[in-house]
Amino acid sequence: MDFELSEEHRLIKDTARRIAREVVAPRAKEVDETQEYPEDFFQAFKQAGLLGMPIPESMGGTGNGILPLCLAIEEVAKYECGAGLMFVLSGLPTRPIVFGGNREQQQAYLPSAASGDTKMAFCLTEPDHGSDAANLETRAVRDGDDYVLNGNKVYISGGTVADYLTVFARTGGPGARGISAFVVDAHAPGVNIDRTDDKMGVRSVPTAHFSFNDVRVPAENLLGGEEGKGFNTAMLTLNSMRPTVGARGVGLAEGAAGYAMEWAREREAFGSKVLDFQAIQFMFADMAIQIEAARNLVYKAAWNVDRGMYTREHAHHLSIAKAFATEMANKVAFDALQVLGAQGYMKDHPLERHYRDARQLMIVEGTSQVQRVVISRAMIDRNLVYG
Ligand SMILES: Cc1cc2nc3c(=O)[nH]c(=O)nc-3n(C[C@H](O)[C@H](O)[C@H](O)COP(=O)(O)OP(=O)(O)OC[C@H]3O[C@@H](n4cnc5c(N)ncnc54)[C@H](O)[C@@H]3O)c2cc1C
Repeated sequence: MDFELSEEHRLIKDTARRIAREVVAPRAKEVDETQEYPEDFFQAFKQAGLLGMPIPESMGGTGNGILPLCLAIEEVAKYECGAGLMFVLSGLPTRPIVFGGNREQQQAYLPSAASGDTKMAFCLTEPDHGSDAANLETRAVRDGDDYVLNGNKVYISGGTVADYLTVFARTGGPGARGISAFVVDAHAPGVNIDRTDDKMGVRSVPTAHFSFNDVRVPAENLLGGEEGKGFNTAMLTLNSMRPTVGARGVGLAEGAAGYAMEWAREREAFGSKVLDFQAIQFMFADMAIQIEAARNLVYKAAWNVDRGMYTREHAHHLSIAKAFATEMANKVAFDALQVLGAQGYMKDHPLERHYRDARQLMIVEGTSQVQRVVISRAMIDRNLVYG
């Protein structure tokens, strides 16, 4: 067992840390207020060559993997959780092509996504099918050399800035086996953004509601050239990206705890510093315990993914990391805000924003309840036993 980060990992972490401090931190409050996608953050990630990490070198990426991606996410999420989501989006819509695409599709879409020349978004959720994605209703019907796509996708992160969409649609009968995956040109006729959301948190990255109205998608854009593989591709993608959502939680919690600690060093009450009260010190101890535990779970889960352990039999380890780290972020953000008292409640400090942002993490890419479905099923099926 080796818990040391490699030289490459440290370099990526340091680069992300520099960008986080120089580019992300100064605008973190502003992008929350304006809800404008921070293209300058994206350009900084692009210039540093950090957008190809989840894409193998053989497919045009840098191939560093999910662990270094988590390290980068952790650094930027200390200041702005949406910046962490921007990194997640380098993998969430591209990995279906990595896992399910053929060579031509990988060459057509992945190098430009890895370099940051194009942006993609992941379209799974529908108005009536979120957790229950296996019953999605968006339909793609073969018509000559095309498929004709009709349906709705909601809450699509980064949808307003995307060039291409990875869309999961029904080509066959009911259930998971009837679902296929497509790459869709986001500007094709019939692709409409009906609205965006006024969100509680993570406001820098817009979520779009798409409607597809008789969109003609070339048959060559069916991932893998085979119908019925889409749901499995979506699950492999979500499994393999779970640590990155956890990393957003770890970074957010570190940022919140660090900010509260600096504030408590200075604030006076009853003739002493707030940090001198043992009740406050123990709150920080609890934050540290939780952050350390979550960080180790997330790194281990990411390490597993980079060794190919993201298929169904490994899914519970990834779900454990996602559930724990995202719930931890909520607890730490809650306590860090409490340390500041009334000031924590005000927009003069970043803690109310961290608190709002943290809430998203327990919902996206599988709710906390859905993670528990995966984990408990593994225990019941005896894949996960503590003997
Ligand atoms: C900010 C944001 C960004 C998002 N970005 C994207 C994106 O980029 N692409 C995309 O495709 N989707 C995206 N989503 C959608 C997200 O993945 C879904 O919201 C999520 O999967 C839950 O689906 P739902 O909201 O429809 O809730 P539902 O599935 O309707 O669930 C409602 C409640 O029931 C619980 N529940 C459901 N099933 C079970 C079960 N079997 N056992 C126990 N409890 C259960 C849930 O945990 C939840 O509490 C985003 C969502 C948000 C909030």
